[in-house]
Amino acid sequence: MVNTTSIGQPGPLIAGGHLVIDLDALAYNYRLLKELAEPAEVAGVVKADAYGLGIEPVARTLWEAGCRRFFVALPAEGVALRHVLPDAEIYVFNGLFGAEAAAVYCAHRLIPVLNSLSDVSMWEAYGWDNDVPRPCVLHVESGINRLGLTADNVRQFAEENALTSALTPLIVMTHLACADAPGHPMSAEQLQRFNQLRALFPEAEASIANSAGVFLGGDYLCDVVRPGIALYGGTPIAGMNSPLRSVVTALSRIAQIKHVPAGQTVGYGATPVHRDSIIAVGSTGYADGYHRAVTSHAAKPGSRQAYAFVNGQRVPVIGRISMDLTLFDVTELGPDAVSIGDMAELFGKNIPVDEVAEVCGTISYELLTSLGQRYYREYVRNER
Ligand SMILES: *Cc1c(COP(=O)(O)O)cnc(C)c1O
Repeated sequence: MVNTTSIGQPGPLIAGGHLVIDLDALAYNYRLLKELAEPAEVAGVVKADAYGLGIEPVARTLWEAGCRRFFVALPAEGVALRHVLPDAEIYVFNGLFGAEAAAVYCAHRLIPVLNSLSDVSMWEAYGWDNDVPRPCVLHVESGINRLGLTADNVRQFAEENALTSALTPLIVMTHLACADAPGHPMSAEQLQRFNQLRALFPEAEASIANSAGVFLGGDYLCDVVRPGIALYGGTPIAGMNSPLRSVVTALSRIAQIKHVPAGQTVGYGATPVHRDSIIAVGSTGYADGYHRAVTSHAAKPGSRQAYAFVNGQRVPVIGRISMDLTLFDVTELGPDAVSIGDMAELFGKNIPVDEVAEVCGTISYELLTSLGQRYYREYVRNER
């Protein structure tokens, strides 16, 4: 078992909640994705502090599991990752960030994903070593209309680069808009547009699939896949029977047990309590990324009921989520079943993160990347 806390993070005895991050489950998910994607290579997506889990332990674990290529979103994230993994190949999704930032790319051996002709010309113009063609990834826009070179841009670049050989596109990539909806016609259209343009770069590898794309399989796998959420245990395609292991468990420390008689209310907005209830008060709230939208059904009619897991049983969340507190209705567990200092699981091995995300109208990605800084973080290895 490895315990890692960085400066500013509370120790286990004084934190309102614990995050238990199962690095073996992470390694398991990596290996599973590798099997599913074979013979494509799996590049780990570790942007946004590895989806909130901590880039350092996550990247180290993936490296140990055999991952050699990584994607981040921002150059600053690339710099942070370079300090962790001196020999990794690091790609940066969001492009160059201007001519001055090119120096940072060079200094830290980051490979930009070039998203526009201005990215291309800045990277060409930056003289890190005049004789060495600069490596890059070309992002081909195929329908999502966020980042990426248009078809005309790509053709123009292919023609010019054939003459100058200034850049070496290692990977030609695109990104699917609807990979999480299997059978969606958009994916097939994007694949077709992508294949036409990637043919202009026969030397480069091709990459289309994010996590959901890995599960689409077939022609979407290409040479390199780029899963993020699946590594971290999120279900890539809603409703699928996910073979992935849960990686993150968020726990809330019970600070008080309240006996609330029928007819009284709990929390902000005075949610009515209809029976004599035992309420466990957890020491985490929306400031810890447990969104206020989790607020119970009774407090927000029409919404789905959220559950936590307390001492071996699912229990409903009751009342509104406060900044630092969340209330759990533990009446069904009976008197004296819950004690101060017990931990309520907000999501993790027993309550899927996707379930909580759905209750509050979002996706697991947002819950993970919202995890606050107040948790005590424990990185564990559970492999037997
Ligand atoms: C974030 C991102 C990924 C990873 O997506 P997941 O759905 O988390 O697997 C892949 N490709 C691009 C371009 C991304 O921005």
